[in-house]
Amino acid sequence: MKFLLLFTSLLSFTSFAQSVNYRLRMDTPQSHYFQVEMDVKDLSKSEVLVKMPIWAPGSYLAREFAKSVDLVTARGESGKQLNVKKINKNTWKITKSTSEDITISYEVYAFELTVRTSFLDLTHGFVSGTSVFMYVDGLKEKSGYVDIYPYKGFAEITTALKPTGDGSTGDAGTVRYAYNDYDQLVDCPIEIGNQEVFTFEAAGVHHTVGMYGDGNYDVAQLKKDMANIVEAATDVFGFNPNEDYTFIIHNVQDGQGGLEHMNSTTLSVNRFTYSGSQYKGFLSLVAHEYFHLWNVKRIRPVELGPFDYDSENYTSLLWVMEGFTSYYDELLLLRAGYYTQDEYLRKLFGTLNYVEGSPGARVQPVAHASFDAWIKAYRPNENAPNTTISYYSKGSVIAAMLDAKIIRKYNGKKCLDDFLQHLYEKYYKGKNRGFSEDEFQDELSAFLKEDLTQFFEDYIYGTKIPNYNEVFRPLGISVTYDAVPRPSVGMSLKGGAGETKVSYVRRGSAAEDAGLSVHDEIIGCNGLRVDKQSLEEFFPTLAVGDRIELLISRDQQLYSVELVVTPYEKPHFSWANVAEGKAKELYNYWLRSN
Ligand SMILES: [Zn+2]
Repeated sequence: MKFLLLFTSLLSFTSFAQSVNYRLRMDTPQSHYFQVEMDVKDLSKSEVLVKMPIWAPGSYLAREFAKSVDLVTARGESGKQLNVKKINKNTWKITKSTSEDITISYEVYAFELTVRTSFLDLTHGFVSGTSVFMYVDGLKEKSGYVDIYPYKGFAEITTALKPTGDGSTGDAGTVRYAYNDYDQLVDCPIEIGNQEVFTFEAAGVHHTVGMYGDGNYDVAQLKKDMANIVEAATDVFGFNPNEDYTFIIHNVQDGQGGLEHMNSTTLSVNRFTYSGSQYKGFLSLVAHEYFHLWNVKRIRPVELGPFDYDSENYTSLLWVMEGFTSYYDELLLLRAGYYTQDEYLRKLFGTLNYVEGSPGARVQPVAHASFDAWIKAYRPNENAPNTTISYYSKGSVIAAMLDAKIIRKYNGKKCLDDFLQHLYEKYYKGKNRGFSEDEFQDELSAFLKEDLTQFFEDYIYGTKIPNYNEVFRPLGISVTYDAVPRPSVGMSLKGGAGETKVSYVRRGSAAEDAGLSVHDEIIGCNGLRVDKQSLEEFFPTLAVGDRIELLISRDQQLYSVELVVTPYEKPHFSWANVAEGKAKELYNYWLRSN
């Protein structure tokens, strides 16, 4: 029996000319270390470079995953140890004889449970591929398999990777999965443990859900609601490119969102998110990550796939990838019947007012916000609200503007859905590649039969406030700028009764004029001891020109500061539904539900 299994695995070995096969072990979960072995076959070179990615696609930050890699060794066919030398932050050079097959071994410390990092303890393991699997330089295109050796108490493996045959390797509990290339391997996160697993069918696709952690969820309700979201997303494109799709859901104390993959996603949510108003937030997250299987995983900028794992992959189009996806993650809830039209519009104009009310919206164009995601959006500091704008929020407002333009142009016969379908057909299916920034603008101009140079200059590469009434009035929504100058101290506070600190100072504000800085502790105001609550009750009672005396502590030294309240006009728009006649028809098409 054992011999027979060994024999079949030898057979499958010879079917790959060059291949990289992995073994993933987790023998001591309490140490938080995964053990990885890589068998590298038929590489006729005397030097092999093995690399750990610096980032996880979908999450635009250099995370330096090599920092968690230990004990990298390599041995040849005879078992002889080979020379391993580290040559830069994420690359190891192995010297071998030509035509020698080698096995590389290493350990990865995994103790960060997020959707883009890995984790292991006695309750479960989670593998985000780019932080666990190294790759051989030059062999990223090769296929292979991964043998997973679950810890003895772990009974379930949830992943979009496909088991080979019956998945058996001959070792008890071990499952063998095949991958087509490294991109696919690391695009399939793996949950190993005792998660609750359920399945549902929707849009002709088999969906598997693996739920780690307790939560107030109801499986029957989730099957129904997640299927509705899947159907609504699929309707945007008219087809679903996957045969199966996997959700890995981590129910934790502090959820942080999701990460998209070709035919799976990992979601991290608060364990009590499954009731009340929070539940719509969860469904919106499901819609967001699911929509990404088209928008960013297939319809994509040329820079985002195939990926360079060795450095930052810059694109100015995250406002389309994340912004349009954010637009649809709410619109799909409307289409699936979870929002009324009014609820939806309140959400949309809430986002619009957040964008226009952000000081950073007048400083950073959304294309620059996209490009600089690596150093700004993912590494915000205390000055971020003054200098940056979210490409999610602003991108979703731009998506709404473009949707309105398209609906008006095509008289309620086409919408943004049709433009996305066009991009899918032309670039993903037709050219099997992403588009450049210029190609995107040209495609959009051609689709709208309108030169969009000025539009892009003003709102994508510039920071102008659009004439929103002109945009939405033809669809029956009148929009009015209603901001007026109001008294403002221009700072935010954090802390509680014990210690109140300045957490934000608006550029050019009264607080800045007074010399206040982030981290200053405010102890007294006008001769009285104060805390965050008393200050936040007092500030709104002030008028322009009022002077207040603040006692602050900065780096242990006490200072007295005089602040003079100044006027500040924070941009704001109100909206009203005035749809009738033709506008009502366009309104009903725009905000239709299935
Ligand atoms: Zn996203």
